[in-house]
Amino acid sequence: MQTSIQIPPVAVALAVDLLTGGNVVAFPTETVYGLGADATRPDAVEMVYRVKGRPPNNPLIIHTADTAAAEHCAGGWNPAAKILAQAFWPGPLTMVLPRGPHICKAACAGLDTMAIRVPNHPIALEILNRFGRPVCAPSANLSGHTSPTSAAHVLAELDGRIPLIVDGGNCTIGLESTVVDMTTDSPRVLRPGAVTLEMIQRQIAAAGLNLAVLSGAPDGSADSPEETRAMASPGLFPRHYAPRTPAFRFSRSSMPGVLNWLKEAGIGRRVILVAFPDLPPIPGVSEVLTLPAGGAACAQQLYATLRRADESGGDVILLEMPELRSGVWAAIEDRMNRAAQELP
Ligand code: AMP
Ligand code: MG
Repeated sequence: MQTSIQIPPVAVALAVDLLTGGNVVAFPTETVYGLGADATRPDAVEMVYRVKGRPPNNPLIIHTADTAAAEHCAGGWNPAAKILAQAFWPGPLTMVLPRGPHICKAACAGLDTMAIRVPNHPIALEILNRFGRPVCAPSANLSGHTSPTSAAHVLAELDGRIPLIVDGGNCTIGLESTVVDMTTDSPRVLRPGAVTLEMIQRQIAAAGLNLAVLSGAPDGSADSPEETRAMASPGLFPRHYAPRTPAFRFSRSSMPGVLNWLKEAGIGRRVILVAFPDLPPIPGVSEVLTLPAGGAACAQQLYATLRRADESGGDVILLEMPELRSGVWAAIEDRMNRAAQELP
């Protein structure tokens, strides 16, 4: 199959035709590029999983053009969901709600709940508006790999596997949406993103709702924390968003360990360093790629930088972890933890 890259308005018309025919199409959102299909058609949903090689137990996010359409798709809606939709939609917040009858079970990995959001991107919204039906769209990359934040990234991942990439330039946010579970008594952030825990807590409090907003995996009956996490949000795998080159993470405070590792394991290997500004030079490193010091800019460029590191022909990538933890840094840290292993 020939993969074509097009820009609007032609691209939007082609995308709507493809979606109407039960096909898949890659399109930009403010978070990352998505691989969309009609969320009400099992054959179309199945194609998304097949093209990505995505495990069937990893549910997709449903996208709609506005809150009214999202309400129509959901099998239930509550006051807290209403507040968050008002505050953050269109935007990078995904809410887990009861699944409505029109949404394919397969799109939700067989669950009775579904994840849904209204994206804040003019091209995505135009496609959704003109198509008029909910679109399930995971990131437009092969399963487990770094998410695409430009049309060129999508092509590098899915060339020959999909008919069309709608080119909308670079994504402005660059990290996948925040996922918050709204089906339990207290909303729980399952995946951090650009809409931070603090922002959600502020909105809930300002609305006068007496609800705690939690984050991370709930304490369940599973044996391990990872199992508990997988029960709460299937698809949040410990290794994900990852470059193909073996990648190891480190923090500035553990530099002696890094230097020792380089002296032993690094000998004869081409080491690519991805780090924040002003890291003292490290002997034995072949190439340095710098991440922006600001949170929003770092989020926006993280995946593109990991891709460049992957493409630079190294044997190993060393990734510096951020020192800050709050706000969007929580999301950056989360993705880096999945992209790279702890330095042995
Ligand atoms: P993405 O890979 O960006 O498409 O995001 C999909 C992620 O949203 C999944 O991997 C889950 O972590 C989360 N998610 C989707 N549907 C549900 C659901 N019904 N319950 C809990 N988490 C979900
Ligand atoms: Mg993804």
